[in-house]
Amino acid sequence: MIIRDVAYRAKVLWKCRNTDCHLAMPRNQQRCTDCGYDRDGRPIGDRVPGTYGPIPDALLTTLRTALAEWFTENGRPRPDAVTFTYTNQNEAHEWSDWGVLHFGGRTEPYCDFDGSDVAEALTELSEWETPHWCDELTIALPR
Ligand SMILES: [Zn+2]
Repeated sequence: MIIRDVAYRAKVLWKCRNTDCHLAMPRNQQRCTDCGYDRDGRPIGDRVPGTYGPIPDALLTTLRTALAEWFTENGRPRPDAVTFTYTNQNEAHEWSDWGVLHFGGRTEPYCDFDGSDVAEALTELSEWETPHWCDELTIALPR
């Protein structure tokens, strides 16, 4: 394991801090591909861009509730979290109404919430504060 220790020190690899996991991850990986913990050892949770928010609790709750209901209503497995990105579709600067789904460290790249309560909650959020280019917003869905 000496080579791996050198790789950790050189930051080519980082080690997942989940004590049940401890998988080695390449530098460009933001989350453990197995358990979904981030580099700081946190399980998937809300992640708001540093230049955005803090988002009022009421808006966050509306979005989280709409997401949870969407997966139930559509008979889809509920992910641990969903990540939305900035979009300037139709000249509007807003949160995308599609998202990346996180199941532990596994991701599904595209889920469309167009026309749903989720999209409405995202519009409300964008109207409260416009996201910036390249922003990403992760909303956790605790069980
Ligand atoms: Zn892990």
